Amino acid sequence: GQCTLVCPVGALIEAPHWHEVLRTLDGHRRVSVVQVAPATRVAISEEFGLAPGTVSTGRLINALRALGFDFVFDTNFAADLTIMEEGSELLARIRGGKDLPLFTSCCPGWVNWVELNRPDLLPHLSTTKSPQQMHGAIAKRGMFARALGGDFASGTAEPYVVSVMPCTAKKDEAQRPGMSGDVDHVLTTRELARMIRTRGIAFGALPEDGAFDSPLGESTGAAQIFGASGGVMEAMVRTATHLQGADESLPLEWEALRGVRRGVKTATIPGVGTVAVCNGIAAAQRLLEEDTWRDEFVAIEVMACVGGCLGGGGEPKSLDPHILEKRARSIYAVDAQAPRRRSHENTDVQTLYATELGAPNSPAAHQLLHTRYAARQSPRALLMQFLDCVDRRDG
Ligand code: SF4
Repeated sequence: GQCTLVCPVGALIEAPHWHEVLRTLDGHRRVSVVQVAPATRVAISEEFGLAPGTVSTGRLINALRALGFDFVFDTNFAADLTIMEEGSELLARIRGGKDLPLFTSCCPGWVNWVELNRPDLLPHLSTTKSPQQMHGAIAKRGMFARALGGDFASGTAEPYVVSVMPCTAKKDEAQRPGMSGDVDHVLTTRELARMIRTRGIAFGALPEDGAFDSPLGESTGAAQIFGASGGVMEAMVRTATHLQGADESLPLEWEALRGVRRGVKTATIPGVGTVAVCNGIAAAQRLLEEDTWRDEFVAIEVMACVGGCLGGGGEPKSLDPHILEKRARSIYAVDAQAPRRRSHENTDVQTLYATELGAPNSPAAHQLLHTRYAARQSPRALLMQFLDCVDRRDG
């Protein structure tokens, strides 16, 4: 049977979609595309009895092909693109002295929290879309969709776009106003494991040689570390310092921003300023209690889940007390072994700018890759208003 699971951010319910995804794949009516988040490939192995922290990228790709997806792409491609846009946005804000510090916005748990509880912070949120939504926009409406050709007006050529995420809140993000339905369905890591089991695919026996399709499959080590708390900031630092013209001798690895246990982590970056990382929503709430954050930092990363996405509500459940450390170690190992470790070195991303978007933060980039936020009321606040109204009427 189907079960519902509650996201650690609260209030968000996981609605399982995997039956629907299997039905659509079996129908073979549209070209199907799937993207996989960085935190999934270091955790899905746990569902199949492999050692925690096993990196299963190649097996995962082969499993997705066996399930019937026509194209298997990497969310990490879009994570590199996110860094190009967000790093440029940060530098523009520093130059203009406006809306600083910049808060990251790739975690929908955090964005939801701001919209519901602190609308005064909305101007600080980066307008850059999350990697999931950037990937969806390019697959559904950007260069990939156009390369497929066909009759777009009738909708028959529109690819079917699925994403695999460690996160229940990503389902909600795909439905946000302004996202144009770019991602049709979001599966959690656990849901994907159930699909694989349902189809009788022996995950552990799959060859490890699977490779992502091109051109939405290339990525750097900077994109891979998005899956760990502090990773988005470290990736942004690597590219922002480059865009600032800093010499290449600056370190790639910012240990002060790493770690899955500390609540708030900070580092001072030459040429950029002091940045902070909030590891979990409670850490962000503590940071915001005092007003000093306004002057102390130029950028603040917030991930709602402790450990970052590798501790997400859609990841396998584990009783191992060191599971976050094990997954994080694997994420940083993938980065350390990557031939390219900075987002601006991604050659497919460079081609996308050269052929389609011009430059980061250009009008074309804004149209496809940026979004807006708006204050909204929580269901609880609406209920309180209603009760208040009934109370007054009865009184
Ligand atoms: Fe989802 Fe990652 Fe945010 Fe958790 S930290 S809510 S997994 S995006």
